[in-house]
Amino acid sequence: MSARDLARYLLDFGIQEVMLPEGSSSREEQDPLAFQDLASMAKAVATCQRCRLAKGRTQVVFGVGNPRARVVFVGEAPGAEEDRQGEPFVGRAGQLLNSMLRACGLSRSEVYIANIVKCRPPGNRDPQDDEAAACLPFLRRQLALIKPEIIVLLGRVAARHLLGITAPISSYRGSWRHWEGVEVLPTFHPAYLLRNPQAKREAWEDLKKLMARLSAAAQKKAGTAEGEAPPVL
Ligand code: SF4
Repeated sequence: MSARDLARYLLDFGIQEVMLPEGSSSREEQDPLAFQDLASMAKAVATCQRCRLAKGRTQVVFGVGNPRARVVFVGEAPGAEEDRQGEPFVGRAGQLLNSMLRACGLSRSEVYIANIVKCRPPGNRDPQDDEAAACLPFLRRQLALIKPEIIVLLGRVAARHLLGITAPISSYRGSWRHWEGVEVLPTFHPAYLLRNPQAKREAWEDLKKLMARLSAAAQKKAGTAEGEAPPVL
């Protein structure tokens, strides 16, 4: 039995004072379902040691935005600037994401932005499968707490780990998918768009689908509210 499993075993038996060896994590880190709000979760995850990415990070990049966002944007991993500032999408790709949001009539404070893994992979490599598997329970819990109407997956890595799609993203971007009852729209990662500006036209087509879906949902909600029986006075 590993030290971590032993600690979980003892905690499950009500023994609260468990000395974890260096590198072990708290109970909440092991059980993301224990978190009831994003703020307490962010505080606990800040010391997470679940995977090897903890070693090279400056800080955990938890996620940012509206805890009641209608739309959550999910990228793959923090880069150098995100690792330095502790916020996702703040480098050049982040500036492009901000422009994309503005084009949709959205702001960073209205949406929520996160990544598949919360610590920077060395040399900006793709997160490895075991690293993504270690970190995904946190993202899943964030999504469960936020309850967005739509998740926009930015790039093939995010789509691969959340939807299990391994095909090139160009073959399915812009086509609606579902993840645990939530509508999902995969599109290009802003970093890809910086390297391949000709793909911005396709990304814009995807964003128009996002805007149309948000607008339709808002109209439906307004229509439902109008159709409601007047209150009995
Ligand atoms: S990437 Fe995720 S699981 Fe790995 S150490 Fe960072 S917060 Fe923990």
